[in-house]
Amino acid sequence: MSRLARATVDLDALRHNLSVARRRAPRSNLMAVLKADAYGHGLLPVAHELADSADAFAVSCLEEALPLRLAGLGHRIVLLEGFFDADELGTFAARRLDAVIHQPWQIEALAQADITAPIDCWLKVDTGMGRLGFLPRDAPAALDRLRRLPGVGAVRWMTHLASADEPDSPVTEAQLGRFGALAGSSAVTAEATAANSAATLHGREAHADWVRPGIMLYGASPFADARIHPRLRPVMTLEAALISVKRLPAGHGVGYGARFVCPEAMPVGVVSIGYGDGYPRQAPDGTPVHVNGQRCPVIGKVSMDMVCIDLRNAPQARVGDTVTLWGGAPLATEIAGHCGTISYELFCQLTPRLQRVYR
Ligand code: PLP
Repeated sequence: MSRLARATVDLDALRHNLSVARRRAPRSNLMAVLKADAYGHGLLPVAHELADSADAFAVSCLEEALPLRLAGLGHRIVLLEGFFDADELGTFAARRLDAVIHQPWQIEALAQADITAPIDCWLKVDTGMGRLGFLPRDAPAALDRLRRLPGVGAVRWMTHLASADEPDSPVTEAQLGRFGALAGSSAVTAEATAANSAATLHGREAHADWVRPGIMLYGASPFADARIHPRLRPVMTLEAALISVKRLPAGHGVGYGARFVCPEAMPVGVVSIGYGDGYPRQAPDGTPVHVNGQRCPVIGKVSMDMVCIDLRNAPQARVGDTVTLWGGAPLATEIAGHCGTISYELFCQLTPRLQRVYR
């Protein structure tokens, strides 16, 4: 039997999570965010699974958009950073890709483009995120200019919320206020989008014409507060196997630098996964894994190919037993909390060596 280190992707759960988004925002179109290899879940399998239920897909760049077209998916595809170079515009036009426009040079590039078909654009407004987009005072003129260009098709509004994961934050209300004022003040009505997963799940104010959920589709909560439990099903289960079980004496070190020292004679397991597969190297002692339904803590530094665990809670554990690093239990969000990061990063940093299984 070969080394077990795999991410199993539950496609039913993926569809279920999309239906949760649909129910929360029943009057909005839904743009499924598939950037970064569908948050590490696999761009094409995820896109095919959602093809019947998503209205559009969002990705970061041409390298992510073109495989979707080549796979025969005819959906609207929105490139969230637009184009990085005017040379890309021919491909946008030929492949019917939507560009997010966030810088004046992009408008000038569109004005000068010699393209075969108009490109649909989403004018990004920086209502408070401080990242991409025109400030609200500059946005109406940018919209006006875009609309007049023969190389531009439909134009829509887009903004991104900085603090939607904290439902009580006043920042979201302020951002939506600025966004609403802008969309309302425009002479011509245009469709608009603001909501990421957190804003799709929480309240209706941000839903607008399109919602753009990402992380919730993959079954992880977008909320910083772990007490908020949206009805999502984890999509990915990360598993490996116990490849060594032995009893170490009290005082014996575990792993590089002997960060963990056995406080008593105890069973220690070695699991066939490490940072070379994308398991977070920063996982501290105490990060939970599950062995035969028992919660056991990681001990010692994570190595490239292995993780050591304290098996005192699972004395029956044997070589060959499956270890769950995250999935239904423990949740990826919980592991992220131990590691000082977010589930998004855990998913995205999984490496090509890790086997992916779809069911
Ligand atoms: N919209 C934009 C512009 C984004 O950058 C992202 C993700 O980072 C999303 C939507 C989806 O956000 P989330 O994964 O929190 O739903």
